Amino acid sequence: MSNPLIVAVDGPAGSGKSSICRAVASRLGWTYVNTGALYRAVGLIAAERSVSLDDDENLVKLVEEFQKNFTWDPATGRLYVGSDDLTLRLNSHTAGANASLVAKNSAVRAALLPVQRKLAFFSPKGAIVDGRDIGTVVFADSACKVFMTASLEERAKRRLRQLEAEGSADSSLKLETLMREIEQRDIQDSKRGIAPLVMCDGATLLDTSKLTFEESVETLIRIISQSYNI
Ligand code: C5P
Repeated sequence: MSNPLIVAVDGPAGSGKSSICRAVASRLGWTYVNTGALYRAVGLIAAERSVSLDDDENLVKLVEEFQKNFTWDPATGRLYVGSDDLTLRLNSHTAGANASLVAKNSAVRAALLPVQRKLAFFSPKGAIVDGRDIGTVVFADSACKVFMTASLEERAKRRLRQLEAEGSADSSLKLETLMREIEQRDIQDSKRGIAPLVMCDGATLLDTSKLTFEESVETLIRIISQSYNI
């Protein structure tokens, strides 16, 4: 059996990557691999077990244990460690903030690299893989690379709407606060020494700031069909 077609999508937090990639994968009958969920899982487990993010030795042990025990359902995107369903907790602020911190650790990145490739190769047809270093490291040889972004304000507005829809935004939460948090994450992800977020050579820019969700989905499908015969 030949390898699946790979679409490598990178971009900053809140650019719409996960919802747009998931929808496109579903329409094409492909697999969607959200690599951020793996970093979030490691960040979350470290927080829940009080493992310091500076404690390289225990962090690596934690990742090794996670690698052995996690299961992921490609159809629903649910992620389990043993029987513990982490999926909802992965969206928490702690998981996101810790993910960005553990992502600076080269041993963590090295351990998660083969996991990401394996998850994508589950797909018989094609996989849309999103993250920060997919086009530069994980699938650097992909024939279809996309850099998805949106303005900082638009990304913060989307995050606020998402928190409100989940009922987890308290009334004092301000757009400016979210903008600062997202900006901080952008800086952390793009200025780190290892696998920083960059728009790589050959990537197509997809700015979703002024696009509706449906327009973004259609644009991504068009970009994919320009690279692959689908
Ligand atoms: O995409 P998401 O916001 O869920 O990712 C959480 C964090 O995980 C990012 O801020 C980034 O630091 C890290 N990450 C990464 N490389 C990836 C995917 C995510 O460094 N391929």
